[in-house]
Amino acid sequence: MKDIPGGPPTLMSKDMEQKPVVIAGGGPVGLVAALALAEKGVQVVLLESANDIPRDLRAGTFHPPTVEMLDRLSIGAELLAQGIKVPEWQIRDRRTGVVAQFDLGVIADQTPYPFRLHCEQHKLSQIAFAALSRYPNARVLFGHKCTGFTHDADGVTVRAASHDGHTEIRGSYLIGADGAHSIVRKTLDIEFEGFTWPQRFLVFATTYDLREQGFTGNAYIADPDEWCAIFVQPHEGPPGIYRIAFPITSEMDDQEVLSERFVQSRIQGFLSPDMEYDIPYKSVYRVHQRVAKTFRVGRVMLAGDAAHVNNPLGGMGLNSGIHDAMNLVDKLLAVLEQRSDDSVLDLYDRQRRLTNIEYVQAITIRNKNLLEERDPGVRAQRLDEMRQTAADPEQHRAFLLNSSMINSIRRAEEIR
Ligand SMILES: Cc1cc2nc3c(=O)[nH]c(=O)nc-3n(C[C@H](O)[C@H](O)[C@H](O)COP(=O)(O)OP(=O)(O)OC[C@H]3O[C@@H](n4cnc5c(N)ncnc54)[C@H](O)[C@@H]3O)c2cc1C
Repeated sequence: MKDIPGGPPTLMSKDMEQKPVVIAGGGPVGLVAALALAEKGVQVVLLESANDIPRDLRAGTFHPPTVEMLDRLSIGAELLAQGIKVPEWQIRDRRTGVVAQFDLGVIADQTPYPFRLHCEQHKLSQIAFAALSRYPNARVLFGHKCTGFTHDADGVTVRAASHDGHTEIRGSYLIGADGAHSIVRKTLDIEFEGFTWPQRFLVFATTYDLREQGFTGNAYIADPDEWCAIFVQPHEGPPGIYRIAFPITSEMDDQEVLSERFVQSRIQGFLSPDMEYDIPYKSVYRVHQRVAKTFRVGRVMLAGDAAHVNNPLGGMGLNSGIHDAMNLVDKLLAVLEQRSDDSVLDLYDRQRRLTNIEYVQAITIRNKNLLEERDPGVRAQRLDEMRQTAADPEQHRAFLLNSSMINSIRRAEEIR
């Protein structure tokens, strides 16, 4: 980052020596923030309400700038070793097949990682937690739910509930990385502006190798009713497992949607209608587009899903949360090391909130609109635009700088 005077820490403030930075939430964003602080010698206490790292199947795509950031921490190589590199991805029409194919190799001069790295987010959490465990200045308290806090001119007092009762931790700052239902955001009464989509998503996985049908490791299929998104994920050796997300209407019953018959009908609809596919995993979830009205109040900052949520088309939610964590840690370090006053934390709010709105919200909404367009004329026109973008070298490159999130990082650096 260019916005804070750099250099190695030479002067430890009282804050840095005595009071830890407290982080509520040990999802990937909280763990990455904790690791980034711990590696710089900051005392950190992380509160996670679950008794272990949550293993649910959620985000699974890491874009090039995110891999670069994780590589600046000590965990990039391990994530690269566990993930699948996906350099090419497709936009398809359900009836006519491939419309456009994008190749991240085209921007290899802009990033050392010209691919999407596919890997389940719980693996990042486990890698970050293992790295964090090596730092005596970091404490991770599983089974500790943040229930509230107060903050004043000198610090924060964070309340946590566990099996053993209630605890209070005095810290210098609090990072609310406690997910979409954030207690930290709610305690501050910060509005979560935006909307919830009427459709929900059915997500399931199949071990069937979609490469046999010409699919790349990531593909988006446009269709007015049965559009879908496909992501390969690591699974017991090659070729991996394919996660597929379909829309379902809000009226449909969960039991019906999760029935074997319904899930088979969705996958048979774009592969072979005569085949039965192996479906080891399925779930349903609701999708929102929301951004907190501010990411900072006094000594408390929001990051990750606590600050913003979006639909998964483009794989930007978790990436954006990690970009928050790294941006915020840079600024917190500047304050703790007395290189900057705490107004720099407002810059965190401006940079990350604005770029979430301008890029993450705008791109993911546009992606969904493209895939689900019902008007045949508009659909044909939009798909044609994608075809032309992929065919023109300059446009192809410009498109990838946006979809890979490189431009959103550059834009954040311009905001003062
Ligand atoms: C079903 C599903 C599928 C998704 N798919 C994608 C995808 O394909 N691509 C993508 O980019 N994004 C996807 N997302 C979004 C992505 O998973 C999130 O952006 C990401 O998990 C955000 O990380 P986080 O650490 O901010 O929050 P979370 O992962 O939600 O972690 C928050 C943590 O805080 C803990 N916690 C909550 N409350 C408290 C409390 N009061 N005290 C202490 N701890 C607390 C929770 O137990 C949890 O461990 C998906 C989300 C869902 C739900």
